[in-house]
Parts: sequence; C-alpha cells; structure tokens
Amino acid sequence: MVYGNMKMWIGGEWVDAESGKTFPTVNVTTGEPIGTAPLADKADVDKAVSAARKAFPAWAELPPGRRSAIVASIGESLKKHAKEMAHLDALEHGLPEHIAIGPTMGAAGNFEQAAAYSRHLEGHVIPSNNDRMYCLERVPVGVCALITPWNMPFFLMSQKVALSIAAGNTCVLKVPSINALTSLKFAEILAEVEALPKGVVNIITGPGGTIGTYMASHPDVDCVGFTGSTETGVSIMQAAAPTLKKLVMELGGKNPAILFPDANIDHAVEILAHHQFHNCGQACGSPGRYYIHENIYDKFLEKYLEHAKHLVVGDPLDAKTNMGPLVSREHYNKVMGYIESGVKDGATLVLDGRKYDANFIGPTVFTDVTPDMKIYREEIFGPVAVMCKWSDEEEVMKRANDNTYGLTASIWTRNIAHALKLGKKLTVGTFSVNAHNFIAAEAPWGGVRQSGVGGKEGGYQGLLEYTEQKMITICLREE
Ligand code: NAD
Repeated sequence: MVYGNMKMWIGGEWVDAESGKTFPTVNVTTGEPIGTAPLADKADVDKAVSAARKAFPAWAELPPGRRSAIVASIGESLKKHAKEMAHLDALEHGLPEHIAIGPTMGAAGNFEQAAAYSRHLEGHVIPSNNDRMYCLERVPVGVCALITPWNMPFFLMSQKVALSIAAGNTCVLKVPSINALTSLKFAEILAEVEALPKGVVNIITGPGGTIGTYMASHPDVDCVGFTGSTETGVSIMQAAAPTLKKLVMELGGKNPAILFPDANIDHAVEILAHHQFHNCGQACGSPGRYYIHENIYDKFLEKYLEHAKHLVVGDPLDAKTNMGPLVSREHYNKVMGYIESGVKDGATLVLDGRKYDANFIGPTVFTDVTPDMKIYREEIFGPVAVMCKWSDEEEVMKRANDNTYGLTASIWTRNIAHALKLGKKLTVGTFSVNAHNFIAAEAPWGGVRQSGVGGKEGGYQGLLEYTEQKMITICLREE
C-alpha cells in the first residue's frame, strides 16, 4: 500500500466519504493493492456540488488576467510533479512510465493553453438596424460535473478541469474507480496552488453507476462534461434531461484509415501502428478499420507486421517496454472476446497477441475481415488491427461512413487536394491527411453521430463549450 488511505478534496478540505467506506485500487500488472480511496455516495456529491456552487460567483467575477495567472500556475505545478504522475499512471493504468511522461506533460500544457485562452474570451457587437446596440458576451455556465474515462486518465481529467475553470466555471471531477488515486494525487498538486480558491475544483471518487448518475442529474449542476463510452453517454443524457443541462460529450469511435496506392507506406506503417498499439489500442482515436488499396495491400501488410512483431510487451516500469498490460481483467476479457469472435466469424488471424499471462495482449492483426463481423463494426478498444482491401474509391468511401460512430478518420495519399475533397465526404468530427489522431492542447477534438455531442474539446473551441452566450441590448436613443 504505497499510497495509503487517500482522501477526497471538497471545498479545499481533505475529507473521507460521509459513510466512511473506502475501496482499494490495484497495481494493474501485479494485482497488488496500492492504496485506498473514499467510496463516495450521494451525500458526498451534494457536498461537492454545494462547495462548487459557493465558489462560483467569486471565481466567475475574477478579472480574466488573474484567473488566467492562477490556471497557468496549475500547469507549472503539474510539470514539477510529472514523473510522480507518470509513475502512478503506470501502476494504476498500465501505460509504460517512460511513455506516460508525454501525456503528463500534455496535462500541464492543457492548463497553460487554457490560461492563455481565458484572457481572450471575447464577445462581439452585432450590427443593428435600429437605435439599439446588441452585444453578445461569453459567460461561464456555472457548476460543471466532469466525468472522465480510464484511458489517458490524467490528460483527459486535466483537459476538462482546465477548460471549464479557465472559462470561469467551478467543477466537481469524478474519474473511474480504476484511476482513483491518480485523481486524488492530482488534487494534492492542485492544493499546492495557494491562489486557487477553495471549492473551484472538487475531486470525488466512487462508482459511475451511482455517483456519476447522480452528478449528471443533480439539480444544482449546470453542465456535464463527459468523456467515455457511447452507452454511458446515453445514460448521462437521460439522467441530465429532466433538468436540461448543457452537455459536452466525447464518446467512442471505430475510425477508418484509408490508404491510396500512392501513399508513403513506411510513414503510414509507422504512424498507424503507433496509434494502434500505443496504450494497447485503448484510445478513442485509434484506427478501427484499415482500408488498403489492393495495389499496396501486400507491401503495407508485410511492413506493418514486421513493425508490430518488434514491439516489446511487458512491465510498464521497464524503459524498454512499448506496451504494458490492459487496464483490467474485465477489459482484457472483453478484448479477448473480440479476438475470439473474429476467429469464429472466419477472419484470418495473421498476428496473434494471445500469448502472454495476466492482463497482457500483444499486437494482433486480422485480415479477410467482412462488414458483417463484430470486429469490423464495434469499437474493440484494444491492440487489434482490422485490415480490409479496396479497389473502388466510391465503394470505400461508402464503407468508411457505414458505421454509427463519427469520431475521426485518416486518408493516406500524396495527392493532398484529392484527400481534402474526399475528407468533405467523411461523416466525422475530425480527419487527418497522412497523419492519424492527435492530442494537443491547442487542437480541438471531438466526434459527430454517436461519437459526440456538443462540439469540440480542446483548443479555443473547447473553452467555448464551457460558456453560454449572453445577449445585451442597450438603447441608444438620446433623451
Ligand atoms: P465508461 O463510459 O465506462 O466510463 C466513463 C466514466 O463514466 C467513468 O468515470 C465511469 O465511472 C462513469 N460512468 C459509468 N457509468 C455511468 C453512469 N451511468 N452515469 C454517469 N457516469 C457513469 O468508459 P470507459 O470504459 O472508462 O472508457 C472507454 C470509452 O471512452 C471508449 O468508448 C472510448 O472510445 C471513450 N473515449 C472517448 C474519447 C473521446 O475523446 N471521444 C476519449 C477517451 C475515451
């Protein structure tokens, strides 16, 4: 129990759950407990929402320059603790420590970028046809319930907190129980920032089915910022509906990567394999379906397999490791289920990652995949690549759009003009040319259809999601 009994952070105080109950989180590689977190229930949510409500007026009215400076200093503080956070991420979530330092520094970047934007939350004046002046002002929404997933836990929780508070909101954050200690360590770093007023950020721990639902339905919550599965997104929308809350939701994906005959194969292999196997494919933006033109199919596959076979699967604390364990036994079973279904449905398993113990699955590649198969249609969220061959452009574009998700896509060709033309036909929230997926504080991200609601997260657009527009009318008639 390296981390002992950690506490929640509510109204600037360190507290246990009202019930006194706790739960352990485990080292995902060894299964050993590493610490305990309070098991919050509705009473704790009430307390956290009330603290956020109390802190809201003063925080919202703070001059933007002062708010910006405080948000920026959180980024500074995170940088000092980056190694510690990367270590905890490796223990609780299994991302190799030397890789986890990247998203951890990215979390600091989220605060720095949000701080810069918060100084420029500008409204505008609307040209008037009469003797009135119309102004639109950007104002914070109020109290935000922020609910995040277990993959890239620290980056995603920091992104939501940074954007919501930079816009002048206060918040209550809840992460999955798997990453509970990561969120409470984050609270400790926030607590070091003396200028951050009590109650602006509150962090609670406990199960989504109870406290997450209650947060989403709470009468004193104005906005829900959620990242997670589409299924949970639907439940949250239902819970939030009676009080008509503003929703910002980033959900699942099954993202097409379309390779043309003139694609730079080496570059495509490097980038696509990275996004497929990084974090064991537990990424919303990882390639879900590859469409490879028949002229380059064999060559691409040969190089892709060669690359995948050399990835090191093992201890996330070892600097040589490329892929650690999957996040939990439950998720391991789910990914194994998909691999088994692919085999049963008749796809060809050209690289089998099922040769490890515990929660490890190595790079896995299927060919001869057809549209009726589960591995073709559903989000696997694991290190499993699904390869398809194409020859007709119109047909492949139809296939790329034939899915309920609409998160991201990539097109691989040297003909940029043609890629941009095709990109217009893709029903996705973001698409890349000769690149796939991206995570950057300045780059807005988010899906359409069943991949997202409410626009973008990240970048200036992401900040705007945590604001409302207030219309001001001034009569200019002289007395
Ligand atoms: P999940 O939906 O199971 O859980 C996400 C969060 O919701 C957790 O904090 C959980 O405790 C909480 N929760 C669960 N049930 C709830 C309920 N009924 N009401 C309120 N909250 C509830 O997702 P996960 O398994 O943690 O994460 C994987 C999913 O997240 C994948 O589908 C992935 O594509 C998606 N994701 C999307 C993005 C994006 O930007 N689009 C980024 C990362 C992950």
